[in-house]
Amino acid sequence: MANFWDDLGNTLTRKAKGLSSRAENLYEIQKIRNKLSAQERMTEKLMMDIGKLIYTRYEHGEAVDGEVGAICEEISQHMLEADHFRDAIAASKGEKFCPACHKAVMREASFCPYCGAACPTAELEEKATDVIEQAEEELKDAAEAEVTEAEEVTETVKTEEAAPEAEVSEETDTQEVVEEAEETATESEEKTE
Ligand SMILES: [Zn+2]
Repeated sequence: MANFWDDLGNTLTRKAKGLSSRAENLYEIQKIRNKLSAQERMTEKLMMDIGKLIYTRYEHGEAVDGEVGAICEEISQHMLEADHFRDAIAASKGEKFCPACHKAVMREASFCPYCGAACPTAELEEKATDVIEQAEEELKDAAEAEVTEAEEVTETVKTEEAAPEAEVSEETDTQEVVEEAEETATESEEKTE
């Protein structure tokens, strides 16, 4: 009987040790994951910094080669479009943007109250009207294209549905690592006994 209680005690100790080693393992993996995403975030940020640096050079008229130059050109076009939309929003609120410091000023102002630059009104209002008309047309087009988009969304959903598989296999990996660690722990324990 004494042997039975001893064995039971050993089994329980082993189980407790197994559990704690599993928890420790998961904790270690989480710690590594955190370090990994910190590195990934930093890489992403530095990549953006390179982009901004190159774009600033392009803006100042420095030569940028082929592919990079094309991207810079695309960026400047998007920025110009964004300016138009900002103007349209400002105009609808009775404001406009100072062309020098880009702060919102009253539509009637001839000069910017912040930096003193001349603020032409007529041109901005005209542009804003153009943008609003363009936006209305685009809305119509978008409504017409809705059916096509709905189909695309369905496709995307299908692709997303396929994604969880990757996570499952990752969990399986974790499980394997934990099981291996448990085996090692049990083996070393047996050697001690
Ligand atoms: Zn200004």
